[in-house]
Amino acid sequence: MWIARTLAELRQRRGAIVGPVAFVPTMGALHEGHLRLIRSARGHAPAVIVSVFVNPTQFGPHEDFARYPRPIERDTALCQQAGALGLFNPGPEEMYPPGQTDCQVSVPRLARGLEADQRPGHFDGVCRVVAKLFSLVRPDFALFGMKDYQQLRVIEAMTHDLFMPVRIVACPTVREADGLAMSSRNAYLTADQRPRATALIRALRRASDRVLTGHVRDPAELENQMRRDIEADGLTVDYAAVRHPRTLSPVDRIDPAAEGGVVALVAARLGAVRLLDNLEIPASPA
Ligand code: AMP
Repeated sequence: MWIARTLAELRQRRGAIVGPVAFVPTMGALHEGHLRLIRSARGHAPAVIVSVFVNPTQFGPHEDFARYPRPIERDTALCQQAGALGLFNPGPEEMYPPGQTDCQVSVPRLARGLEADQRPGHFDGVCRVVAKLFSLVRPDFALFGMKDYQQLRVIEAMTHDLFMPVRIVACPTVREADGLAMSSRNAYLTADQRPRATALIRALRRASDRVLTGHVRDPAELENQMRRDIEADGLTVDYAAVRHPRTLSPVDRIDPAAEGGVVALVAARLGAVRLLDNLEIPASPA
């Protein structure tokens, strides 16, 4: 597996690839969720490129950019084991060289509410770096996790609206045995906090059951129940929302006959750790 640390190295490696390329952008501190994306990517193209880049523009001023884990040697070994052809691991000065004009890519209709309310500018930073990475890697396929549901919808919209020649592939959330969605930030959880971190998925599964057994049709009622369930475990809820799965707009009623169902999305804080999760709730009742 090759490793490129500069744009010049990456361009040279990319230019030598014949045939389709599948791309997995990450911020590193790789876990099974990332590795599943890399393995799935191999099903789309023989050449898989992974990027590991902790992108400064998607972190707010009081977020964990400085302390975000960066175990690059371990990440390199894991990428290789998962079958990547190449790893792009640039420094911030490569991706944001001095003298640039702060060109932005915004997706206003999807990058509002939910995470955008909690993290102003976050999706502008995500779109900016993903657009740069796509220009460099020129992938035919790019794989994103449903764990970051709003991010997935924002990236789909960006590539669609800007006619970017890449197919976005959505991959299901990979979970620990007790249901906790895998995340690089789970490493921040103390032994004491760890069992309570399952509050999000437990609330989401209860919400899904309430819909599927036909007990709840009112999104506000479902949102309030999820919020109360998570708060009962001592977490601070940032949002608990029921939305249309593609537009992420609020829904008036959870209609079992409606196509596509709904998605329930939650974010909560446990001490200094921010957790997010979501669950698609299919349309038909049990
Ligand atoms: P990150 O390194 O957190 O920026 O994530 C890189 C990619 O991995 C994104 O597309 C995430 O949605 C995806 N990802 C992170 N955690 C998981 C997970 N538990 N299951 C599936 N995909 C994930």
